[in-house]
Amino acid sequence: MSILINENILHIQQRIRQACESAGRNPNEVKLLMATKTVTPSRIVEAMKTGNTLIAENKIQELKEKYEALKPYPHTNHFIGHLQSNKINDLLRCEVQCLQSLDRITLAEKLQQKLEQKDKFLNVLIQVNTSGELSKFGVAPSQTLALVRAVSRLDRLCIKGLMTIGIFSSNVTQARPCFQLLKQLQGEVIKANIPGVSMDELSMGMSGDLEIAIAEGATIIRVGTAIFGSRQYPDSYYWNENKKID
Ligand SMILES: *Cc1c(COP(=O)(O)O)cnc(C)c1O
Repeated sequence: MSILINENILHIQQRIRQACESAGRNPNEVKLLMATKTVTPSRIVEAMKTGNTLIAENKIQELKEKYEALKPYPHTNHFIGHLQSNKINDLLRCEVQCLQSLDRITLAEKLQQKLEQKDKFLNVLIQVNTSGELSKFGVAPSQTLALVRAVSRLDRLCIKGLMTIGIFSSNVTQARPCFQLLKQLQGEVIKANIPGVSMDELSMGMSGDLEIAIAEGATIIRVGTAIFGSRQYPDSYYWNENKKID
């Protein structure tokens, strides 16, 4: 099993290098994030032995379950799933360093409050719903700049960029307009020159469409299946938790 994980990661790294070469980009600009939903701690550790130590969960429950087992291994935790505000304490306790899925001001305000209490800071990406699909979370593209402005006033949250999930389609080229839109929004935010806001990171692209995402400017690609194999549950299980907002 671990040999397979190793080979899969080597293959992903090769795809990243090739995509960067085609796009005229430096491969060092693209970070590989391993999406570890449904993956056991022992398999995550195997994958991290390759030197890739940026990992992310979608569900707080899984984050909590794996926290102790992964603790001895140096790694960086991001969170890429929908976050309900009553789970903020768990998120902070599990030492998540970046919340990639911040998509509403009510959640941001509750985060600010908890972070103040704990005297902590948190990196965030603003998640944008670039596909317009009802089944995906994320702020509407037209509301992105306003949300960035509002979150920028909360001093415990450090905005580092934008995140999106491209359109869900067997035809991966359909994701390209989603990625182009995220890049365009990044440009608009940069132009607005909002104090304290960094737009260095564009988190977009997954197992099936990472080449397209890299061509359109991704700095973080989030890869699950291509490293760990296919999952038992459909992605809708993770992306559309009954569309429950709080
Ligand atoms: C699962 C997941 C990924 C990785 O998807 P794969 O197709 O398995 O590579 C990326 N981003 C998010 C938000 C995910 O939930």
